Amino acid sequence: MKLQQVSDNCFAVLNEKNRMCDANSGLINLGGGVVIDTQSDLRHARQMIELFGKVWAGMPRRVINTHEDGDHVWGNQLFEGAEIIAHRTVRELMPRVADPTEAQQLINGADRFLSRLPHKALHPGALAVARQLKQDYDFDGIRLVLPTTVFEERHVLDLDGTEVQLIYVGPCHQTGDTIVHVPKERVVFAGDVIFRECTPMGWNGSYERWLKVLDLIIALDPDVIVPGHGSVCGIEGAMEMKAYLEYVYEESERCFGQGLSALEASKKIDFGPYGGWRAPARLYMNVERAYREFRHEATDAPWNHAKVFDAVLAVAKAKGIEVEF
Ligand SMILES: [Zn+2]
Repeated sequence: MKLQQVSDNCFAVLNEKNRMCDANSGLINLGGGVVIDTQSDLRHARQMIELFGKVWAGMPRRVINTHEDGDHVWGNQLFEGAEIIAHRTVRELMPRVADPTEAQQLINGADRFLSRLPHKALHPGALAVARQLKQDYDFDGIRLVLPTTVFEERHVLDLDGTEVQLIYVGPCHQTGDTIVHVPKERVVFAGDVIFRECTPMGWNGSYERWLKVLDLIIALDPDVIVPGHGSVCGIEGAMEMKAYLEYVYEESERCFGQGLSALEASKKIDFGPYGGWRAPARLYMNVERAYREFRHEATDAPWNHAKVFDAVLAVAKAKGIEVEF
């Protein structure tokens, strides 16, 4: 984990491994301090606080959650007393989407249950994901702390005369997606609208909306984008995400037309220039999202996580690469 200054008053803490749960956090070091996203477990959240602590005057007065996924909200409890701001849907969905017990059971139960033969045979992907997460994460002790302030379309903060705009852009990667724009510093904290050098994992939302939001970020013309996952970039990061999504959508459409299943398509579609990104087999999720659209299903239809992890593992195996989530 490293601290990076991205403008006069904006900072990022980056999880350099860039695998599942390795989310970034931001800091706007003005107006009493604003932290953007709070990490995946208490150990990482404490480490983030220590790194930001090198530059801030004290614990920040405000926290922003860019969406409801656990890897962006599970450190909230260390900021109790702060104003926690998010889109309305984040407060509604967090108790279900970011229920830490599912993650706790997954990694704590991995050895006890999943390694038993029948489970191993049934859900090899879930076992593999549990093993990977166990290397870096401990979800014990996490208590959900919900946003205290919610908004609908936009929310503006005035930090010592520097305007910060929270812009609701969901559902594109997830229902509550929000980007944080600091025009004076030419910085956008993009949350998981942008994954950089790692394969995006999207849940609720449409391709059309996600591409539009990437266009919006490009139109804001920032010098710096802090993505939800991966290294800090400029607008080329938004352009590459667009190119990836367009590529996967087109390839998926072709495979759908040939009658292939989403899993078969994911095995067949070439990683192309994105094979060097972290966890390329997560491609399956993006193919499945496209298929949901082709099948005219709801873009917020629930996911079977174990099935997703199994499919990602199957894609990695078919491609002859080591699986990574
Ligand atoms: Zn994330």
